[in-house]
Amino acid sequence: SIMYGCNNFCTYCIVPYTRGRERSREPEIILNEIRQLVAEGYKDITLLGQNVNSYGKDLDRGVDFAWLLEQVNAIPGDFLIRFMTSHPKDAGERLFDTMAACEKVAPVLHLPFQSGSSRVLKAMNRGYTREHYLDLVAQLRARIPDIVLTSDVIVGFPGETQEEFEETLSLIEAVRFDALFTFIFSPRRGTPAEKLDDPMPKEQKNANFQRLLQRQNQISGEKHQAYVGKTLRVLVDGRNDDGKHTLTARTDGGRLVHLDGGEELIGGFYSCRITGSSNWALFGEIVEA
Ligand code: SF4
Repeated sequence: SIMYGCNNFCTYCIVPYTRGRERSREPEIILNEIRQLVAEGYKDITLLGQNVNSYGKDLDRGVDFAWLLEQVNAIPGDFLIRFMTSHPKDAGERLFDTMAACEKVAPVLHLPFQSGSSRVLKAMNRGYTREHYLDLVAQLRARIPDIVLTSDVIVGFPGETQEEFEETLSLIEAVRFDALFTFIFSPRRGTPAEKLDDPMPKEQKNANFQRLLQRQNQISGEKHQAYVGKTLRVLVDGRNDDGKHTLTARTDGGRLVHLDGGEELIGGFYSCRITGSSNWALFGEIVEA
């Protein structure tokens, strides 16, 4: 964890009430912790916070998240840096430039969009519009064309109309996320969204949710299919319990790969040829230790 709490007060979320305002940890403590982990052999470091792009604002030391990424990237060793969660209202060119320039930063971004409708985004108090979100994606892809992009979306926010849901569907068509974490709205006690009118019947929300899920599964499947035949670096991260393969691994972009090999491979980076795919995972074989 690089920070705790959140200042954003999205109208559906309880986090700012339960975990309080943003508090960043001192960079020296974070960097020492990472140096220690790398010395112990850790290969995959994830910087965590509710809104990592606000890192440092409360420290009053002139540091920000992009600066922290640069500092972590400068630590000697063979390891990958990931981070989550980024908030679209605080992400932008400085972050994307830094990601592109730092070779240890994984080519993946989790950037929750929550809704494809600017009116719903306003009701959620998200602080950005559909157009701004699409513009961010274009800026990011201009710098890192093969970025793996994942996101969160809420279906059935109170007052969301059928047309507004269609805007969400059209946003996932436009962006083509690699993976999407989809949620049906469920009220959290004490949040402003709990008190909003919610006229859309549950059945309609469920039907919309299924449509979104099906379309995203197709897109994820198509994106996975495009990996077949490529050779990528993977980090073998554990034993497999799928009954067909012995090991699991992750690409630098965080895609799950099922493959075979001895347990002595766990914890190492290898070149892996992708031989097959499904909507949820890739299949591969190690070509070079
Ligand atoms: Fe903060 Fe995320 Fe909750 Fe919004 S959804 S209030 S950004 S933790």
